[in-house]
Amino acid sequence: MSKFKFELDHIGIAVSELDGGGEFYKALGLNENSREEVTSEKVKTSFFPLGNRVNIELLEGTNPESPIAKYLDKRGPGIHHICLRVQHLDELVAQLKEKNVQLINEVPKDGAHHCRVVFIHPKATGGVLIELSEKKGS
Ligand code: ZN
Repeated sequence: MSKFKFELDHIGIAVSELDGGGEFYKALGLNENSREEVTSEKVKTSFFPLGNRVNIELLEGTNPESPIAKYLDKRGPGIHHICLRVQHLDELVAQLKEKNVQLINEVPKDGAHHCRVVFIHPKATGGVLIELSEKKGS
């Protein structure tokens, strides 16, 4: 039994641009509750809460060199990552390092929504990029 608790926070979907990418979610009747640019990741994000603490996050690259732009070039639009909400992120990262899980960044960086985030390499997870996110101050 893990001492950590994981909750699905959001599913990240790469789109060529946020407006067009959001049309389907608006057709569902969902409201876009925030847009945010994460300059360190060269990405703009748009959040659509599903009403159960899970969100759809659309991602648009702001620069051809951004990881999202590169992803789109290679694979086209689609699921880019899933994000698990956690507490005690530093402890969790230490545990993962101890177990030699391949991380993309070992030092948490600033993500959208005042969170600190760490990405786990898809090679370690069965082919899915996983983001671990902790609200700052939690
Ligand atoms: Zn995300």
